[in-house]
Amino acid sequence: MRYIIVADIHSNLEAFTAVLQAAKAGGEISEIWCLGDIVGYGPDPQSCLHLLRQYPHICVAGNHDMAAIGEIDTSDFNVAAALATNWTAQHLLTEDKQYLASLPMIKEVGNFTLVHGSPREPIWEYVLSPMEAQASLSYFHTDYCLIGHSHVPALFQFEDGCCSQSQLPATLRLGKNRFMLNPGGVGQPRDHDPKASFVVYDSDSNSLKHYRVEYDISATQEKMLRLGLPHSLADRLSHGL
Ligand code: ZN
Repeated sequence: MRYIIVADIHSNLEAFTAVLQAAKAGGEISEIWCLGDIVGYGPDPQSCLHLLRQYPHICVAGNHDMAAIGEIDTSDFNVAAALATNWTAQHLLTEDKQYLASLPMIKEVGNFTLVHGSPREPIWEYVLSPMEAQASLSYFHTDYCLIGHSHVPALFQFEDGCCSQSQLPATLRLGKNRFMLNPGGVGQPRDHDPKASFVVYDSDSNSLKHYRVEYDISATQEKMLRLGLPHSLADRLSHGL
């Protein structure tokens, strides 16, 4: 079985489509595991939701998903993010809002826990350091945890009571060590690489593979500007910031 692990699609249809095409080129997609923030920032919230829902999938809620349906307020968002949230809220169908409202905060699938922020703080916490990863260790009960939110691919491995952080390797074989893993962002990467980032878990080979794919960034940017979304949000896509 091949599970496609995506996070932070952020209404970027070109990036999400490129990810799915690349994933399909490697074999059949058994299921998509989505770590939240399907919407927010980008120009295609409806289309991204509809594309995700065409596949067998499991999805947890992100802060932008919750904000777009008014479940959390945007006072902690920066100005551009709040503007994009209001725009998104106006461009969702009732059915889309119902779907977002139905998403769980945290979900266990086999030996994996799926969550947007962290097991300790599912919606808000950024896990960017071994200390933050360690603080969440007692909050999940599977061996492995998949997180999003920071838009930065990363691996936090636990061994002998310690946590070490490393870059996401091209291939990671599942072993005895527990870990937390961020596949990076699909629709707004922030690790200075503008290519969409995702991971494939192959349960037959018991391994995870990290991929980066190019997509038509200018097409997304043109749509954003045409629709009146903030320039800064369009700009950052070119730089992976
Ligand atoms: Zn996000």
